[in-house]
Amino acid sequence: MHVFGLPPEAMRARLVAGNWKMHGSLAANQALLAALKARLKAIDGVGYAVCAPFPYLKQVATVLEGSPIAWGAQNVSEHDVGAFTGEVSGAMLREFGCHYVIVGHSERRGLYGESDPQVAAKFMAAQRAGLTPILCVGETLEQRERGDTDAVVARQLDAVLDAAGVAAVANAAIAYEPVWAIGTGKTATPSQAQGVHEFVRALVAKRDKELAAALPILYGGSVKPDNAKELFAMADVDGGLIGGASLVADDFAAICDAAAGTLK
Ligand code: PEP
Repeated sequence: MHVFGLPPEAMRARLVAGNWKMHGSLAANQALLAALKARLKAIDGVGYAVCAPFPYLKQVATVLEGSPIAWGAQNVSEHDVGAFTGEVSGAMLREFGCHYVIVGHSERRGLYGESDPQVAAKFMAAQRAGLTPILCVGETLEQRERGDTDAVVARQLDAVLDAAGVAAVANAAIAYEPVWAIGTGKTATPSQAQGVHEFVRALVAKRDKELAAALPILYGGSVKPDNAKELFAMADVDGGLIGGASLVADDFAAICDAAAGTLK
């Protein structure tokens, strides 16, 4: 049984996760969460989540209690405990109910120098604590134009699979996020997204076919209500990791509806 609750042969579960990044305030979060709670209904095979900044996680947990919307963090330490000023461990997150954590977002890799081995260590730390990592992979524009997309994505993914073992993907999601599409308004075309998603699934399948078939692979990069359906309709696109549009209740809810409407 896959963590998202469906056996692989039945149907791949969908997940739409919002990445709030460093946005929010108590008042704005309250309004956004209340609107999402009112709008999103539990649907078999469709998961929703919001990944909020650390200080707001308790608020998110409290407001979302009893709703079908899960919540997560945007980062986690690769260490379990110790003298790591400013860091937050997986156990701390798990202790008050956190479910997901984003690891290896391109902003962490690019702005904070997170390396492939460090991302792999964070992925494993998250799982040790009982969290479900959403592992981000994706190429820059320069890498795409050089024809290096597959090589970059393979390097990022293999770093985690080599360190954690393929069995670890039973409790994880992958998010393909081309860096050139994040926050830019430029979205990968459905066929560009499908091409990389298929490649990611094939990489996992080389190690374990069943796990690959059940693995949720999300697309991220300027997903909006008007492009979500086309993207989610692609065979290997199982939902989305949503930045800007996750801050607007109607937009995020419409993207969740698109995921539910394209259940395969
Ligand atoms: C993201 O930050 O993961 C993201 C996909 O952002 P946006 O949807 O704003 O491009």
